[in-house]
Amino acid sequence: MYVPLVLTQFLDRAVKLYSEKVAVIDEERETTYRELNSRVNQLSHGLKALNIRKGDKVAYLAPNTLEMLEGFYGVFQLGAVMTPLNTRLKPEDYLFILNHSESKVLFVEKELYPLIEPIKDQLTTIETIIAHGAAEDQENYYSYDQWLTQFPDSAFDREELDESDIASLLYTSGTTGNPKGVLLTHRSNYLHALTVMHHLRVTDRDTLLHVLPMFHVNGWGSPFYYTANGATQVMQRKVDPKEIFKKVDRYGITIAHMAPTVLNMLLEEHSLNPEEHVLGQDMRVVIAGSAPPPAFVTKVEEDFGWEFIQVYGMTEISPLVTISDIPSTLEHLPKEEKHLLKAKTGYSMIGTDVKVLDENGEEVPRNGTTIGEIAVRSNNVMEGYLKNPEATSETIRNGYLYTGDMAVVYDNNYIEIVDRRKDVIISGGENISSIEVEGVLYNHPAVLEAAVIAVPHEKWGEVPHAVIVLKQGAQADEEELISFVRSKMAHFKAPKGITFTDALPKTASGKIQKVQIRKDFWGENDRMVN
Ligand code: ATP
Ligand code: MG
Repeated sequence: MYVPLVLTQFLDRAVKLYSEKVAVIDEERETTYRELNSRVNQLSHGLKALNIRKGDKVAYLAPNTLEMLEGFYGVFQLGAVMTPLNTRLKPEDYLFILNHSESKVLFVEKELYPLIEPIKDQLTTIETIIAHGAAEDQENYYSYDQWLTQFPDSAFDREELDESDIASLLYTSGTTGNPKGVLLTHRSNYLHALTVMHHLRVTDRDTLLHVLPMFHVNGWGSPFYYTANGATQVMQRKVDPKEIFKKVDRYGITIAHMAPTVLNMLLEEHSLNPEEHVLGQDMRVVIAGSAPPPAFVTKVEEDFGWEFIQVYGMTEISPLVTISDIPSTLEHLPKEEKHLLKAKTGYSMIGTDVKVLDENGEEVPRNGTTIGEIAVRSNNVMEGYLKNPEATSETIRNGYLYTGDMAVVYDNNYIEIVDRRKDVIISGGENISSIEVEGVLYNHPAVLEAAVIAVPHEKWGEVPHAVIVLKQGAQADEEELISFVRSKMAHFKAPKGITFTDALPKTASGKIQKVQIRKDFWGENDRMVN
């Protein structure tokens, strides 16, 4: 008989099979699946008492915590919509998102409450703010623990859900104007979870370290597929390499997802203080995604003994689209080539139809050189952007979601991202991939992080410019780095100038924000790219 694909099934299964197993470790708190389920029921009863109904938006502003994870399932039981907020935004961004989404309740981690305080009186739809871990004596402001424990943990009489109902609303980082709200259904999250748990072979023997924030496209859906399989989920609240090493060892972490910059930090931390860290040997695989990884991060395989896999995706697609684990047909390749392949983008995941299309909507030849735009058709594609039909129809055309990511395809069907359309540098009519130039810079022994951007130029329109963070104690000047790049690639691709800095601006999930960096050269409005 037909069973709708709804996400509450995932927790139900875990509670049946793994009730006394530790579900969540958050700082010193350990919670079993049975206890997690009780808290989820309390939360659903509490939300009902706050008048939350099917389709209402419930917003969360928190790092990775037990409360955030139980939020997903507590909200779903009412058929309400989980709306997690990026923790690195400004009060005015929260004002926009909370009003635009018409959220009714906001859960907020105590330390983040100061970001909400200044806009509290301008929130037009929020009826209740509940703070985690605080007892504040203000109107409409409750302490989570005191609030939650008033409610029974008895089974919640669930709202009837269909798989086409919206499960989550996720705002993009808003680099080109106001952030856009991506609507994902239960079905898209559910099928995405099935696909990913197959590709990553997730089981109840896994212990996940939640490094990637759960507000970032639901932590790539990890609250769903790790819960469904009864894995233990260890919360990591902020990116701190020393703490990550400690947790990996202490809890026997087997799997972790993170941005390439975080892997880079781990490699750097380990090379600076090799004696200080025990390398957790239970770690079977680390998955990098969100941004293109420099090829050397595959060193975690040799240096740490952790398998490396790259994934590519975007919020609008639930998010994952490609994966770079090596199929057995390519096992014969030498190690270096396999590494290169893993650091490239990957091949399509099950259930995802990925094409690289030219300007006429035709597939580009599979020759590894002809560039087109990645377009995706799958069950994981969003319903659309909330209250933004223009942006939706610009993005979803002819049944495909156009990603804005430019790529080439090889004859073995591997897809390699060349650059975001917005980041390609157009110099004297030539297209330069910022990723390719960064790749060369990362090979210089003094370079820790590199971002290559377009800057205005009188003669060429634009030229490449690099912003560099040097490794601790390392030295290199502008001339040396530029001639290093010129010795390795066509001269017009080499940066014409270098700026050195202590840190690059990054999103909360660890992506380098080239839009921010460009502002120093182009002003607030950034350069115009079609
Ligand atoms: P916004 O849409 O608000 O500008 P964003 O695009 O960074 O923000 P996400 O949906 O988190 O928001 O990121 C998706 C984008 O990240 C992709 O379109 C792609 O450009 C980039 N990306 C993700 N994974 C990879 C990867 N493995 N390699 C290269 N780029 C990647
Ligand atoms: Mg995007």
